[in-house]
Amino acid sequence: MARYTGPVCRLCRTEGKKLGLKGERCNSDKCPINKKRGAPGKDPKSRAGKRSEYGLQLREKQKIKRIYGMLEKQFHLTFEHAQRMSGVTGENLIKLLESRLDNVVFRMHLATSRSQARQLVSHRHILVNGKSVNIPSYEVKPGDTIEVREGSKKMAAIMGALSEVSKSGTMPWITIDVDAQKGTFVAYPRREEVTDLADVKEQLVVELYSK
Ligand code: SF4
Repeated sequence: MARYTGPVCRLCRTEGKKLGLKGERCNSDKCPINKKRGAPGKDPKSRAGKRSEYGLQLREKQKIKRIYGMLEKQFHLTFEHAQRMSGVTGENLIKLLESRLDNVVFRMHLATSRSQARQLVSHRHILVNGKSVNIPSYEVKPGDTIEVREGSKKMAAIMGALSEVSKSGTMPWITIDVDAQKGTFVAYPRREEVTDLADVKEQLVVELYSK
């Protein structure tokens, strides 16, 4: 499936926000956002102009899309799915994005970034309910178990990523047995539980796509 293959730090600089696309590097001094580098092609000291309503909505959509490593078509299809569900469309959108297999693998600390998680899934290192699934966008359902395939459990990348669990903890909607490299997607997260997206305004995406 198609994915963005360009320089990812540029995406953060464009949004003026850390999107956490490079795993450990994002928390290091090497992160261009920590170095206060501005948007690509712009003087970091220049003041940003006032954005139109459309501009704000567009940027919010781009930001969410980039956090989850998706391209436009796939993101729009996910939005349409969210619209068909009962409840608040914006919250449904976050629920669906959080239930993507690559995201769940990332949230379980089996990878340090969503792109690394995507690779683990594509390369068949991950089982869902005991069966190999190599589709990063696979929709995990509450009660599904996700685990590392037996032959992949000693992979340095996975073991290194898992060592972070004790530092950053797990999300309330996912349980994980670190030793077994296995976890359960217990339930769809409630919006307020997705604390690292607290400043994301998904309602702007709803307004953008409703035009
Ligand atoms: Fe974004 Fe991470 Fe690059 Fe920093 S290091 S700009 S957070 S992708």
